[in-house]
Amino acid sequence: LTPAGLPGDREVEAGFEYAVDVLKRLIAIPTVSPQGEHYEEAAELLARELESLGFSVDVIRVREDYQRSKCRVASENPRFIVYGRLEAATPTLHFNGHYDVVPGGPGWTVTEPFKPVIKDGKLYGRGAVDMKGGIAAVLGAFKAMREAGAQPPLTLEAAFVPDEEIGGECGTGYLVNEVGVRPDYVVLPEPSGLEAPWKGHRGILWLRVKVKGRTAHASTPWLGRNAFLMAAQLALSLQDYIASAYSSRRSRYRIDPEDARMPTAMIGGVAGVPGEGKANQVPGEFVFTIDRRLIPEENVESARRELASAIRWIAVKLGFSQDDYSVEEVISAEPAINEPGELYEALREAASQAGRAVGEPTICPGGLDMWYYTTKGSKALAYGPSYHLAHAPDEHIDLEELRFLVKTFALLPFTLARLAPRGS
Ligand SMILES: [Zn+2]
Repeated sequence: LTPAGLPGDREVEAGFEYAVDVLKRLIAIPTVSPQGEHYEEAAELLARELESLGFSVDVIRVREDYQRSKCRVASENPRFIVYGRLEAATPTLHFNGHYDVVPGGPGWTVTEPFKPVIKDGKLYGRGAVDMKGGIAAVLGAFKAMREAGAQPPLTLEAAFVPDEEIGGECGTGYLVNEVGVRPDYVVLPEPSGLEAPWKGHRGILWLRVKVKGRTAHASTPWLGRNAFLMAAQLALSLQDYIASAYSSRRSRYRIDPEDARMPTAMIGGVAGVPGEGKANQVPGEFVFTIDRRLIPEENVESARRELASAIRWIAVKLGFSQDDYSVEEVISAEPAINEPGELYEALREAASQAGRAVGEPTICPGGLDMWYYTTKGSKALAYGPSYHLAHAPDEHIDLEELRFLVKTFALLPFTLARLAPRGS
């Protein structure tokens, strides 16, 4: 016997069909960060859909002065956050999805990145799993609930945000820290895979190191100081330091893959002579980046201090003066860890009713927007589709997985309302 108003198979099917349609329309809008050229269009679409599902919706434009000072990687294009709310009893269950995507990139074989296509039960396009697919699943779940005429048993919220791929300061960071949103429970339908949710993620610290030498004509190199060779020395010594300093550290949490339980730092993702450089000129400047990932036991401040002192120490050893180099921070995001308790139990129960067993939560090896919520006391989980070629050519979502997520998210408010402490 289904309780009155609980979404059944017919409603879930309507929600699923709606989710597929919304997902196709979303993928067709190239919301690439950091450019953010089509953010307004995507925000308008999402706001319209939420309104049609009975939510009261605010489209929040990030203040310009905030954007300039906090989101240095972002372009000048305005940032929009879609925040919808369907008021009912406490507590509040909040879904967060980022609508920005990484660039389309080359190498696609099934379709072009922003021309969604369904083939063999899979929907292809940039953002299909990371994470417009998750957003579509949430909207599909709301649709299923509405079709069933279900009064939500708790307050539902949706936040659709930009800029997660560049650290989230102008998306989730703004919503939590400036607007002051404080939900009790947060679900981020990021591509965790359906086997188990994530209850945390690694952090990120992204630095840009500039090495300064002296330009000279290539025919008389002794008159210059080759900034490329200086940077190469610095980078190699730093790599040795990283290998020895981090190898003994290991998170006590389960992170898949196993090697991601160690902190990592990758050097040289961006590297080169500023401008173009010339083959017949001794390079007077050379820039390279460091991408440092933090395990949940670490924090940005200590990682920052540690790297700065390692670089200083290596520079002294190499005979560099203080003016020979500078280190600039590009983005940072804290790692997250939390104990989601009844939120996990409720998810497990909803997923089981939708036909799948869900395992114990693990930690995401990459970075997510979860930490903005958990540092303010929300209980949070990330749970979404398989990671089919996210950030790569031929990204796609399995439509059976999308259907399962629609059903799970449509049932979650009911299982959570039963398990959550009253008045929390
Ligand atoms: Zn993502």
